[in-house]
Amino acid sequence: MRRAGRIIYNLATVVSLLLCLTAIGFLIRSYWALVGVSRSNEVSDFQIGTTHGECFIVLGYHAPSTMRSDSAVHWQWENQPAVDAIDAAAKFDTTVNGPVAGFYLHTVEDSAGKWTLGLIPSPVLVGLFAFLPVAAIPISRRRRRLARKAAGHCVVCDYDLRATPDRCPECGTVFSKPKS
Ligand SMILES: [Zn+2]
Repeated sequence: MRRAGRIIYNLATVVSLLLCLTAIGFLIRSYWALVGVSRSNEVSDFQIGTTHGECFIVLGYHAPSTMRSDSAVHWQWENQPAVDAIDAAAKFDTTVNGPVAGFYLHTVEDSAGKWTLGLIPSPVLVGLFAFLPVAAIPISRRRRRLARKAAGHCVVCDYDLRATPDRCPECGTVFSKPKS
């Protein structure tokens, strides 16, 4: 059970590291390109992507008057010059409820339909994904020291200390004897 937990933890750390690197890539790219994916059908539009250092999600529902005649689902890869996400959505009045520290969530409704825009600063996502990989460094270091100690090896260089428990002949580290 402990072993399964460790495998899941290691897997989560690797996935988190990959997501972190991907987020960094998108963050850099977002300063000169809006990159994203959109899905639309006759009644709804969904778009997710990055632009100007922000991750955005747009969700739209068309009112009957603006519904498309075509009921097929369209997926589209977006790649265009970077724009401000709120300006691009146009419908959102930021003078009334502007983004707070890059975070934004607002819905507007008019005769054409209903639109929701959500923004998260991309560096926040990078930081979230970086948490596990960064935390893994001291954890794995500590785990390695404990494993070496349990095996009777030097915690610094892993040299076998069974013959010389007080001082490591390999790296010179001195170990205080446990008081008895
Ligand atoms: Zn040593």
